[in-house]
This record gives sequence, structure tokens and C-alpha cells, in this order.
Amino acid sequence: MLKLTDVTVRFGAFQALNNINIEVEEGELVVLLGANGAGKSTIFNAISGLSKPTVGDIRFLGESVKGNSPDRMVKVGVVQCPEGKKLFPDMTVQQNLMMGGFVHRGKKTQLKNSLEEVYELFGILRDKKDDSAGSLSGGQQQMLAIGRALMSKPKLIMLDEPSIGLAPLIVEQMFSIIQKINQSGTTVLLAEQNANAALKIADRGYVIENGAVVLKGSSAELFNNDAIRKAYIGA
Ligand code: ADP
Ligand code: MG
Repeated sequence: MLKLTDVTVRFGAFQALNNINIEVEEGELVVLLGANGAGKSTIFNAISGLSKPTVGDIRFLGESVKGNSPDRMVKVGVVQCPEGKKLFPDMTVQQNLMMGGFVHRGKKTQLKNSLEEVYELFGILRDKKDDSAGSLSGGQQQMLAIGRALMSKPKLIMLDEPSIGLAPLIVEQMFSIIQKINQSGTTVLLAEQNANAALKIADRGYVIENGAVVLKGSSAELFNNDAIRKAYIGA
């Protein structure tokens, strides 16, 4: 479904990504593991069109999408739920969701269907639909950010560190929701530092260090890898 070939991204003289090769099959849940500054968000930004690779190619459903604008990427079915949520805090929950549904412009029924699906998945967002986004708890804001991304009915959703800053109980809830999104047919690419929780729900993973893939494998392989256990699982 998605294939990155030798993707390289530079910021001035700094090479943030160095020949990244990543593949995601339709229906999979794939995790990118890596510490702060490893390059996970830069990979997402390259896919979603927010940053331009200097070298390499990105293909989605058999077509090159390198250099596409972010809104073009949403139209072809790729949406990013950014790190730090980037909500509109003074707008209501429902207004934030509507922003994510911009691809349905002029198609009222589709917009309503999307909204209904998001409310089915996140009942709390329906209960709080008229509250300002800024008044929600951290976990609820993350749910809103994911819900907003789902409004465009993506084929592939990229979730950038959805568990960051959340209480352990909420983290567990968040990962089970992500699994549910995947099981309902949406392909998921997840960036996480919480290797333990992420590998429980992922099919496969890549380990990113200093802008390069240093290891890849099934979740079981990564979970049982000694270096991974030391660096990310603490066991
Ligand atoms: P991660 O998401 O894994 O924490 P990032 O992709 O955000 O890592 O960052 C990878 C590296 O690229 C870091 O060293 C970061 O400082 C650098 N970087 C990210 N975005 C920019 C930018 N816009 N300009 C310059 N350097 C950047
Ligand atoms: Mg990041």
C-alpha cells in the first residue's frame, strides 16, 4: 500500500533522514519505534507532504505521491494525526471534527456519516460535542485529534505518539481504540516511544535511530530482541 524507497530529508546542512526504506501492506498495523529526535515525525511529514524528500520516492497504492501537498494526500486517503494534537482549543469538539471532514465539502450525507462513525467510536466526544476542545482532558483531546483525522475516512492513518503524556489507564484505552480502528479496516502507521504497549497491538515494526532504520521485524521478534528490551522496554 505504502512504500518509501531511499527517502532522505535534509534541513539545511542537517540530514534528518538517511535512505529510509519502509513498506506497509493494506490492513496492517505497523509501528515506528524510536527515541526523541530519531526522525519518526520527519518520516510522517515526508509521507503527508509537510516536508519534501531531497532523494528517494514515496508510493501509495502504486502511484508516486512524492511532493504531493498535504490536502492532496488526504484526498488520496492518507491522513496524519500530528504529535501534540494541534487542535483548535476555542472551537467546539464538533467544529474541530468538521475541520477534519473538509474532503466531504458539499456532500452533507457523507459528512454526517463520518461524524456518526467518530461518535460511535468515541462516545465521550458525542457527550462533549458542544464543549470547547481546550476544556477536554489530555486523553479526550487525543481522542478528538484521532477522531478529526478519521473524519476524512482515510485508507491509511498515521498516529504520531498518541500515548504521550497520558496516564497509564488512558494509554491502555488509547491502544485498544487504535487496534479497533485497524480491525475496522483502516491501515495504521504508528510512531511510539512506548514500545511495550505498541508492540502488543502492532503486526510489525521498524526501529529508527539517527534518521535511519536500524532494525525491522515482526512485533514478536522486536519484543524479544535484547537491544530493544534494554533500550525501550526496560527489561
Ligand atoms: P522524532 O519524531 O523521532 O522525535 P523528529 O523527526 O521530530 O524526531 O526529528 C528528527 C531530527 O530532525 C531531530 O534532530 C530534529 O531536531 C530535527 N528536525 C526536525 N524538524 C526540523 C526542522 N523543521 N528543522 C530543522 N531540524 C528539524
Ligand atoms: Mg516526533
